[in-house]
Amino acid sequence: MKEFSWSARKNLSSFETPGHHESGGGRRLDLSIHRPISGHPIWDPKWECTERKAIRSVQLERLRWTVEYAYNRVPVYRSKMRSAGVMPSDIRCLEDVALLPFTTKCDFRDNYPFGMFAIPPKELVRIHSSSGTTGKPTVVGYTRKDLDTWVELVARMVSAAGVRQEDVAQISFGYGMFTGGFGLHYGLERVGATVVPVSSGNTDRQLMFMADFGSSVFVSTPSYAAHIAEEAKKRGLIIGKDIKLRWGLFGAEPWTEGMRRRIQCELGLSATDNYGMSELCGPGFSGECEVGKDGMHISEDLFLWEVLDPVTGKPVLEGEVGELVATPLWKEALPVLRYRTRDLTAVTTQPCICGRTTARMCRVKGRTDDMLIIRGVNVFPTQIEHILMETEGTSPHYLLVVTREAALDTLEVWVEISEKHFVESRSRLSKMTELQASLVKKIHSVLGVSVKVKLVEPQTLERSQGKAKRVLDKRNLE
Ligand code: ADP
Ligand code: ZN
Repeated sequence: MKEFSWSARKNLSSFETPGHHESGGGRRLDLSIHRPISGHPIWDPKWECTERKAIRSVQLERLRWTVEYAYNRVPVYRSKMRSAGVMPSDIRCLEDVALLPFTTKCDFRDNYPFGMFAIPPKELVRIHSSSGTTGKPTVVGYTRKDLDTWVELVARMVSAAGVRQEDVAQISFGYGMFTGGFGLHYGLERVGATVVPVSSGNTDRQLMFMADFGSSVFVSTPSYAAHIAEEAKKRGLIIGKDIKLRWGLFGAEPWTEGMRRRIQCELGLSATDNYGMSELCGPGFSGECEVGKDGMHISEDLFLWEVLDPVTGKPVLEGEVGELVATPLWKEALPVLRYRTRDLTAVTTQPCICGRTTARMCRVKGRTDDMLIIRGVNVFPTQIEHILMETEGTSPHYLLVVTREAALDTLEVWVEISEKHFVESRSRLSKMTELQASLVKKIHSVLGVSVKVKLVEPQTLERSQGKAKRVLDKRNLE
């Protein structure tokens, strides 16, 4: 599934993995691939390589604990469960999770700041909040034990991504209320890496430390990694000589395989995707293994996942795309039942070549609320990114501008051309027109929607220090 891409396929509904056949063609899986590949240690084999049946029984035990705990301690859950006519004792098997009401971001906002907590605020040892991408931030908190479990989750994830004790890990996620910086920090410390907590921004300093400390791990959003790559080039830093990165741990925003290829090539590292969100604890919910790079392993002993049709709320078939709904099975300060992440993904339980037996979720296509509807056609920014990254002459910096002209929604794709293409087009202007026309054509043929493409000079679009802003919706401003 290396080349799995949401946008390249007309049929977006399947998660294709080697050995997984949609037709259920009956081919038996080669169980010998369960063996961990030598040289790629697994942080916690007890939980990462458990038989699936054993995982499910642990999940049930912990789900029952979580539901009872939430019911007894959090009035919001008690009243929601009563309205749904369900009691903790009704949870007898894992499928009974479907009886429980969902939790949404609105529940957090309505009970701001501490109304969802199961313990008095004075018993918390840390508070974080979401980055507030889509409105008022939501507040989350941790007990000492919660923090310890979170650290273990991140330790598993960074180990799977390739990080070892001898690594020097530079963290460019923001430190502060955002869970990214601190989350990665303690997980990387636990595996024994040397942590360099630069935090976000200040690209000059990032590059100086990267070179001087010999950083081998870079933690950031994929868009910031793309920015770092271009800034390194501008300063004449040589990859492999001045910059010696080996592993890139990227997450916090949607990105594509094409973006991965470019970042890997430009920074000379192996890039993996990882996913999390504050309401579920922060980073650590899932992460790719560096061996397979074939979906993000979910720590299933600690989270119960469901993939549901976002409209009907009913489960989709395994491997099909739907909204991820997750229930943490361990949280003391802030138990959360069936959290609707609004993120679209697919999950497979097929074994991975790395030896882990945990289910894997594929790249997040986007949030349900990121979807643009352009003249009736649903468009996710990642679909456009995929096309841009597959086209020579573009850079990884783009912005989707949506306007309304004469009651018609119009999508304009602004993309920076690469330095090389820019220089070449100076002597042959038709190169620019060709690129523009080819992008318009490709986007139309893949998405079935006509867009305008505006090629802009290198270095003209705003760079983000954290999560990239890919859409400028001017319809709301007019
Ligand atoms: P906010 O909801 O305010 O952005 P968070 O900072 O907790 O709060 O971010 C969580 C969200 O970030 C997820 O719901 C998801 O949309 C996005 N996200 C995190 N990791 C990834 C990833 N690897 N790929 C795509 N999106 C991601
Ligand atoms: Zn794996």
